[in-house]
Amino acid sequence: MAKRLKNYIGGEWVESRASVYTPVINPATCETLGECPDSTREDVDMAVRAAQEAFPEWRATPVMNRAQYMYRLKTLLEDRFEDLSEMVVKENGKTRDEARGEVRRGIESVDFAVSVPVLMRNDGLEDLASGIDEDTVRQPAGVFAAITPFNFPAMVPLWFLPTAITCGNTFILKPSPQTPISMDILFEIMEDLDLPEGVVNLVQGGKEASMAIMEHPGVRGVSFVGSTPVAKLVYETCTRNGKRVQAQGGAKNYIAVLPDADMTASVKNIMGAAYGCAGQRCLAAAVVVGVGDAYDKMRDELVKQASALRVGYGLEETTQMGTVISAAAKERIERMIAQGVQEGAQVALDGRSASVNGFEQGNFVGPTILENVTPDNIVAREEIFGPVLSLMKADSFEEAVEIINSSRYGNAASIFTNNGKYAREFKYSVNAGNIGINIGVAAPSASFPFGGQKESFFGDLHGQGMDSIDFYTEKKIVIERWI
Ligand code: NAD
Repeated sequence: MAKRLKNYIGGEWVESRASVYTPVINPATCETLGECPDSTREDVDMAVRAAQEAFPEWRATPVMNRAQYMYRLKTLLEDRFEDLSEMVVKENGKTRDEARGEVRRGIESVDFAVSVPVLMRNDGLEDLASGIDEDTVRQPAGVFAAITPFNFPAMVPLWFLPTAITCGNTFILKPSPQTPISMDILFEIMEDLDLPEGVVNLVQGGKEASMAIMEHPGVRGVSFVGSTPVAKLVYETCTRNGKRVQAQGGAKNYIAVLPDADMTASVKNIMGAAYGCAGQRCLAAAVVVGVGDAYDKMRDELVKQASALRVGYGLEETTQMGTVISAAAKERIERMIAQGVQEGAQVALDGRSASVNGFEQGNFVGPTILENVTPDNIVAREEIFGPVLSLMKADSFEEAVEIINSSRYGNAASIFTNNGKYAREFKYSVNAGNIGINIGVAAPSASFPFGGQKESFFGDLHGQGMDSIDFYTEKKIVIERWI
């Protein structure tokens, strides 16, 4: 029977006060995996109170002791690595290898949190004036929350929770209601940590729970990852309510391929970047701009390799690309392809009639390639968030950069070339937060901030890396005179 999910508040599993539960559907098999409560303001209030109560004792727990929990969390996550990865496949639809990669990346964020005792140290200056010393200390700031998306149900919450609590804050997580079970498992795993009650709290739900978090006076700051319209709303709501906020939004990532690039390596990279996780990655390659005769060199090879991708259920080891998240997503993706064609794109490979034996009800969209796409076409402008790659031509490197910089998004951009001058010029002048040079998916590791510019990010301090230490701590300046 499908599991009715509970919230985890103050160290206990508690039933939500929700009157509405939404089914969590395996997008490949259409099996109902669980029921997710649409948690209410009262549920959120209960979680905030628990986190507030836990804060004074937790912030006074020595930072070295807080870091010890992260060593244990890493071991527990390694023990449950396969369970967690399997649930990511079941509720999200990606392949097993992709899910394993995601959980591995999540564990790397736990590794990063172990370094908080070093990273929270700060600087000072003796004898600033005669007998006067000045120091900066970083202190935890209170209750933080994260609101996270469906596409990385295990990794994205782990970008935030480990660092936030190791810095001495208490925490509330609200995952996507489309993929809430991975976090149900994470909290089950974290029960074995024996953290003090209320340090970590899980509230399952959707918009109502998000709004309640953003409007609650007891929440100091919010980390958000999701689509651009919601990221904007989150940024506006949190700032209006006097909160710190980092809101990572949607994307439209471009790749420029120059004629001197190693075509075999470039195409292999672009394939992974475009079709990994069925294109449902904020770092997915969405548009490839072929410069000069690079276009013709790569076009046929991309079509050939994309046609050969084995689409199927992620739990089957032979599957190379899984499903998209829902019937609604499939419908949206197919509608955008049709509109792109209406606006002048030509279909080089059509994934719209994809069907997988044994999973006929599954939300499969096959790899799709649209060519002769112009910058004003919807498929060049809007995030599709599916396995659709648009191909564009540019006569020069400069034209390619101009096309890329005309996008309203700025999450990631990559270039494939063997020319150092163009590579340097690309990283110098392209307005995107994560730049790849001969790398298809420019995903920063846990110790670097996750970039994002323009409509891909709202806020000042990004997730991960030193930015996350700044985000989760308050700097206090102490000026002393004793003589
Ligand atoms: P989404 O914006 O629909 O939802 C994200 C979260 O916000 C969920 O927890 C959801 O319950 C909540 N939410 C949705 N609508 C809301 C509303 N009106 N008010 C308050 N809360 C609301 O995003 P999604 O479909 O789950 O995820 C896909 C999107 O996330 C894509 O646009 C992708 O590019 C983006 N994404 C960005 C990054 C990044 O680092 N920039 C990483 C992963 C995903």
